[in-house]
Amino acid sequence: MTNPKTKSPSTPHRPSQGNRDFRNRTKRNGKSSEAQNDAPRHVLQHPRGNINSPAAIILNPGREKSVLHRHPWIFSGAIKQMDGAPISRDTLPVRSAQGEFLAWAAYNPDSKITARIWSWREDEIIDAAFFRKRIESALAARVSFSNISQEKKWPAFPLPQGEGLKVEGTHINDSSLTPTLSRREREATQNNGMRLIHAESDGLPGLIVDQYGDVLVMQIGSAGAERWRDTCADILQELCNPICVYERSDSDSRLLEKLDKRNGVLRGSLPNSVEVIENGLRFKVDVAEGQKTGFYLDQRNNRALTETLARDKDVLNCFCYTGGFSLYALRGGAKSVLSIDASADALSIAQENLIANGLDTTRAEWQEADVFQALRTLRDQGRKFDLIILDPPKFAPTAAFAEKAARGYKDINLLGFKLLRPGGVLATYSCSGGISDDLFQKIIAGAALDAGVDAQIVHYLHASADHPVLLSFPEGAYLKGLVLRIST
Ligand code: SAH
Repeated sequence: MTNPKTKSPSTPHRPSQGNRDFRNRTKRNGKSSEAQNDAPRHVLQHPRGNINSPAAIILNPGREKSVLHRHPWIFSGAIKQMDGAPISRDTLPVRSAQGEFLAWAAYNPDSKITARIWSWREDEIIDAAFFRKRIESALAARVSFSNISQEKKWPAFPLPQGEGLKVEGTHINDSSLTPTLSRREREATQNNGMRLIHAESDGLPGLIVDQYGDVLVMQIGSAGAERWRDTCADILQELCNPICVYERSDSDSRLLEKLDKRNGVLRGSLPNSVEVIENGLRFKVDVAEGQKTGFYLDQRNNRALTETLARDKDVLNCFCYTGGFSLYALRGGAKSVLSIDASADALSIAQENLIANGLDTTRAEWQEADVFQALRTLRDQGRKFDLIILDPPKFAPTAAFAEKAARGYKDINLLGFKLLRPGGVLATYSCSGGISDDLFQKIIAGAALDAGVDAQIVHYLHASADHPVLLSFPEGAYLKGLVLRIST
């Protein structure tokens, strides 16, 4: 793979003049002349408070409630006034209308989410040491709930070059492993990808880090995290020792934060080809041009479940991307797998993945098409399947899009139900933050009703454990899935 982006280093980050490191917090209550004199004139949506006071976010009466409940977002409507003259990316204290300290938050006047909370502790200093502590804690959590050997210190995944070891058809380069691996270690060698940092839910709003072997991909989605990009890249480099830290900050959601898109190497250099091993299956990851950070790690466990449902089945995998669910179904003994996606690039990688894993190519068919249209064509052709997977892209990024999204989900699920043989199974997903579990289930119930089928839910599914959800932040639970069996 030749990758034009490989050699272009990212633009060095220059903190704005307002980007203050709060290491020297002795000035907390002193006037910041820098902020007053040099701050660009943002169009603020909030009345200016006392311009001579230290910068702070003052909430409307009663709006401290969600902050006290540990929700990490402060919407523009909750803000009564801004004291001082802060600028985007600054770390500011958040205070109640009565002046009580509530939290330290990153400020972005250009976003509806005007502040994202770093810490609720008044004595916390938001500096490099803070980020190191949070990143270490996220990595430790991954070690504790994964199959990584506790005795191994992080990084457990990046595999040193060495003699190598054959594990169920997959060649793993790890000279430190011996042929007498414990079950736990053997499982660890079959997975080298993981979400290491899951933004708000890991106490790092706006920061996502995914690991694909010895490459880390960082995605920044907030002004606050943007200010700490280089700090976080340095910490990740030191703690994980990857061969590359790559930045994929080019999602459309950055526009909501008025942040420019960025895509490029931050540390090290990107190898020509990146691969992730998941439950022993190998997937090529296009870090620079692929979707999201290159791969959908969140579906790991759900893909593994598909493998157990596929034996002797005719399978239809809609929105297949690089073939995730399809390869598991084939390994699980599916009779046939028809996979559909609109992206020719994704389909071409899917076929490479099929071959790289030595799976039976004669049982796999790939179709480049719009799923909405393709499902209708299959219906008109009278095609039937035993197992259908629907894993569409995000239809509703926020609750405001829920109604339109609901129509899309109902449409594909109704058609999916109609294409099932009696006793068939539908595995259906939504990765829309704006669609709750309840609403999703109601949409699917409506689709089954209109399709004239009776269905039972046999599995309620969510993202894998490396995508934890902060209890006080339900928005973090964006991925939901239902596995349903229709009656015979
Ligand atoms: N199931 C995949 C991830 C799916 S992501 C996995 O396990 O890796 C959503 C996919 O839907 C993307 O590959 C995107 O190219 C595709 N897509 C988006 N809109 C589409 C449409 N209307 N028809 C077909 N594919 C579409």
